[in-house]
Amino acid sequence: MKKFGFLVLLFVFGLVFPGYSHAATDTKIILDGKEIVQPSDAKAENINSSVMVPIRVISESLGYGVDWQQKTSTVTISKDNTAMQMIVGQKTATVNGSNVNLDVPPLVKNGTTLVPLRFVGEQMGLKVGWNNTTKTVTLVTQNSGSGNGTTTPPNSGNNSGDTQEGLVLVNGISFSDNRFLIATSGDTKPNVFTMTGPDRIVIDLPNTAFADSFSQGQALDSNQNGQLVVNGYPDVSKIRYSLYSNTPSTVRFVIDLSGSKGYDVQNDSGLVIVDLNKEGATPQPPVGNNGKKVVVVDAGHGDQDPGAIGVTGKREKDFNLAMALKVEALLKKESNIDVVLTRSDDTFLALKERVRIAESLKADIFISIHANSGPAAANGVETFYSRATSQALAKVMHKHLLQSSGLKDRGVKTASLHVTRETTMPAVLLEGGFLSNKSDEAALFTESFQNSVAKGIVAGIKEYLGIK
Ligand SMILES: [Zn+2]
Repeated sequence: MKKFGFLVLLFVFGLVFPGYSHAATDTKIILDGKEIVQPSDAKAENINSSVMVPIRVISESLGYGVDWQQKTSTVTISKDNTAMQMIVGQKTATVNGSNVNLDVPPLVKNGTTLVPLRFVGEQMGLKVGWNNTTKTVTLVTQNSGSGNGTTTPPNSGNNSGDTQEGLVLVNGISFSDNRFLIATSGDTKPNVFTMTGPDRIVIDLPNTAFADSFSQGQALDSNQNGQLVVNGYPDVSKIRYSLYSNTPSTVRFVIDLSGSKGYDVQNDSGLVIVDLNKEGATPQPPVGNNGKKVVVVDAGHGDQDPGAIGVTGKREKDFNLAMALKVEALLKKESNIDVVLTRSDDTFLALKERVRIAESLKADIFISIHANSGPAAANGVETFYSRATSQALAKVMHKHLLQSSGLKDRGVKTASLHVTRETTMPAVLLEGGFLSNKSDEAALFTESFQNSVAKGIVAGIKEYLGIK
């Protein structure tokens, strides 16, 4: 009877507070000594003695690549050289193509896909512990030592070790502020030259290949050719790329120009930048070294990772990109600011690549743009940061986000999110409203809202950097 009563209570509680049904028994997750702050709509829960976490926690807090295919109910989780596939309700998973048995298969609850945390963590090389009294999962990165919170982040250093068969991998590309940026897994020696009839700049990267995530994100055709569409730049019509040669493996990028154009090449820590702002006659200082402040704007999610899905089906990744492009357009006009976008089209970039871009550029600030999701009634804007050195930026950015959006104030909060945690410069993640809320979603996809918030974000950046 007692058990039956508990079930009834759970049932009623679940009906009345669908979004908060497990709030009373929160499961904590500690990664390398720091608690992961779980999104209010995406918390871990204990099911059949297994801690199950929403895939959003895997992507946003642990920083692994996550791909969810609704049609086949298949979730793919990837990091470095490990990729695992799990299917909702099926007890057999595959890890790098080999079958592995699961104690508890993935499941869908209230529209959220949950996966077993211990299995995912252990397959990714984490040490996983469980304290039943405090309902706490501890995750320790194996190569990070004692896990007391002072250890190095798992993705710091050793960039060149991240290769496939000795090749450096192309992870992502972006075009912003008249600069073409190529993010690679390690150092390369680019060969850059011009060709005429029509005018173009050719960038060959010897001993490189496309990363699997790049091939998926950038829609390479069967001959490994693809194209980045560039809008709003009169000098550049498009950027093409291909696996130019197999012996040795060489990736070629071609910037198609409207006429002859000077350029400058920077190459540092897995980041190649071809800068068309510089007329190449005299050597030019790299991004930011001309006394300008470097601002990295990161549009969350992309391609196969749509982020939150709105009440009418609108996708977070589209909002994030539209906002980033609007912010870029405004910052281009600022003579004291260099802006770099982590992605400038609908492509996917792993969280650690977004961090690497900001770190390689020694950016002054990092702004990640997202939209939120939660219970239908939840609405408003919030600003997240992870490290104390980001608090001042968070406060300034939130003030402007709030004013320019006109939405409800949910405040400045701390959360252990990959991009704000692993970066070393002041970094914030802006949540510009709830796609799961009818009126927020309607506002977020209007030109007037986006233009206003883009202005607000730029005003915040300028205020923080002390630029008039
Ligand atoms: Zn997001």
